[in-house]
Amino acid sequence: MGSGTTDVALIGAGIMSATLGTLIQHLEPDWSIEIFESLDGAAQESSNAWHNAGTGHAGFCELDYATPLPGGGIDVSKSIAINEQFHVTRQLWSALITRGILPAAPGFVNPTPHLAFVTGAENVAYLRQWHDALRTEPLFANLQFSDDPAQIGEWSRALVDGRAPGEPVAATYEASGTDVDYGALARALIDALDARGAKLNLRSRVTDLRRDGEGWMITHRTRTGIATTPARFVFVGAGGGSLRLLQRSGIPEARGYGGFPVSGKFLRTRTPEVVASHPVKAYGKAEKGVPGLGAPHLDHRTVDGEDSLLFGPFAGWDPRFLKSGSRLDLFRSIRPGNIGPMLTVAKDNFDLLKYLIREITASHDKQMLALRGLMPSAVDADWEMIDAGKRVQVIGRDATGRGGLQFGTELVISPGNNLAGLLGASPGASTAVPVMIRLLQEAFGDRYGGWTEPLRELVPSLGRSMNTDDDWALEIRRATAETLGLAGA
Ligand SMILES: Cc1cc2nc3c(=O)[nH]c(=O)nc-3n(C[C@H](O)[C@H](O)[C@H](O)COP(=O)(O)OP(=O)(O)OC[C@H]3O[C@@H](n4cnc5c(N)ncnc54)[C@H](O)[C@@H]3O)c2cc1C
Repeated sequence: MGSGTTDVALIGAGIMSATLGTLIQHLEPDWSIEIFESLDGAAQESSNAWHNAGTGHAGFCELDYATPLPGGGIDVSKSIAINEQFHVTRQLWSALITRGILPAAPGFVNPTPHLAFVTGAENVAYLRQWHDALRTEPLFANLQFSDDPAQIGEWSRALVDGRAPGEPVAATYEASGTDVDYGALARALIDALDARGAKLNLRSRVTDLRRDGEGWMITHRTRTGIATTPARFVFVGAGGGSLRLLQRSGIPEARGYGGFPVSGKFLRTRTPEVVASHPVKAYGKAEKGVPGLGAPHLDHRTVDGEDSLLFGPFAGWDPRFLKSGSRLDLFRSIRPGNIGPMLTVAKDNFDLLKYLIREITASHDKQMLALRGLMPSAVDADWEMIDAGKRVQVIGRDATGRGGLQFGTELVISPGNNLAGLLGASPGASTAVPVMIRLLQEAFGDRYGGWTEPLRELVPSLGRSMNTDDDWALEIRRATAETLGLAGA
């Protein structure tokens, strides 16, 4: 691409832009990259360590990725797909550590076993069935199951101490799970981009996107006034700010999308003996009618070298789409094209609405009661409530024009493939690598063929399934586990 115009503009300095910029800088070192970030540092919204649970989602513990089938049996294809995606992520991180672009492990990634944990006879039977469906898959061959409280207590004392004798419990255990500081990761990637020639504009809020010849004119508000920058390709990686920017761009692909903000909250403890009693991440089963992102989980975290536990997520509500956003965000996002789908969603998702109202109005005692479902011995004095990040729940239009909640990550690409954006937050930061590779494939289709070999230098399994025991796959799993300091392969 030519001079005078930025080749690639990244809006937002969270994990998504940081990952895309890193891939593009590797593939096209001569392209100019400019990053626009409204705050005074990178990764201060959802990617910040305390604004998410830090789970490297690999399908080892998230029961909501599996679907019970009407005639019996469980469909675990999504758990396998998410695990495959995490292997792509592991490979990129490991290649970047080897090249000195990311700091050596442990650091942003810490080995933290993943457990699924349930109570009650019906749930114990379900967990056994879930484990049976997964354990024959090569990627889940090391997943252990136990319904013995003594064994579960060895994995995590917190889950069993203080529990009524005889209460049916069961857990699965995967040693190669991870806890990830996505904030530290995004900052390290942005610093490396900056050091290799990308231009980082902090305190620079993008307010408008207009078509300009073959590319886009970006209007951004800086400390000194309003400025414009032409760009050939724009990635809208603005998290909760993406919907509004995609709407401003006027691309037809963004029409019909709406968003509903849900704030996250976590209980946190830093009491050393409590933290030491739970060296794992344990995910429970979401209540009926509650979306998967509402499944309770108790997470061991390592942030800036300090260990803690988080429990949640609890939901809160205000109309802002970003923590640093405006109370007018929700109102401003309403358009003639999305009001219908938004009203349909409100009408069709009464259970979800009831769940949100219950969550928002829950007292501290109720929140502690929820924690004691996983950790019966939890004591009020050890725990404080912290505000996490925002999720903007995407509302889309189905083929019949009706509205529906979209729980995944929606990639939106303009005609001409010169603007792309990301909506939605699940499974989130841990899928940044595969999602950004998909973006490269879809938005740069004419170049992607020439990029596959250089991409394989970073992600050797590109285009191949890792769910196999073939030697090449075992070698990749072993090598990335070693570089990332993770258990097993
Ligand atoms: C409670 C909670 C728990 C979660 N737990 C997990 C988890 O355990 N594992 C996981 O993988 N994911 C998790 N996620 C999801 C994950 O945090 C997000 O998917 C991910 O951080 C999104 O990254 P991003 O780069 O798209 O957005 P962000 O990190 O939000 O970055 C967007 C950036 O854009 C900037 N910006 C916004 N508007 C503008 C503008 N107009 N101009 C310039 N800059 C702008 C913002 O300031 C921000 O820096 C969780 C999310 C929440 C809320």
